[in-house]
Amino acid sequence: MSKLEVAKLLLSKLMNDRIIVGCETCNEVFLDMKWSAYLPLLHGNLNTPTKWYNKVALHYCQYPEHQIKSNRDRFGYNRPFNFSEAFETQLAQNNICVFDLIHVVREMEEKLKDAPV
Ligand SMILES: [Zn+2]
Repeated sequence: MSKLEVAKLLLSKLMNDRIIVGCETCNEVFLDMKWSAYLPLLHGNLNTPTKWYNKVALHYCQYPEHQIKSNRDRFGYNRPFNFSEAFETQLAQNNICVFDLIHVVREMEEKLKDAPV
């Protein structure tokens, strides 16, 4: 099989998989859909701001001890991603307090009102 064929096979497998983001501590689910449905909503741009990510940020602010995880990382690679740890690291590295993050989340809520996901 050529590299291109392998890539196509992996991509079609990914498209049938679900992307699931939820809190392991309280079982709140922020996103659960097939990649094949999710990607078109972002027009293929994984950097598009989303409502679910904003909700994850808010959940982290409210419950910093909860463990928010996804089954895949944000680029679709088959490795779990821990949002709680990522937020903790990002805030510490950039010297941002949770209060500031909540402020940004509230601003984004308004901007994301009409976002598809
Ligand atoms: Zn939780």
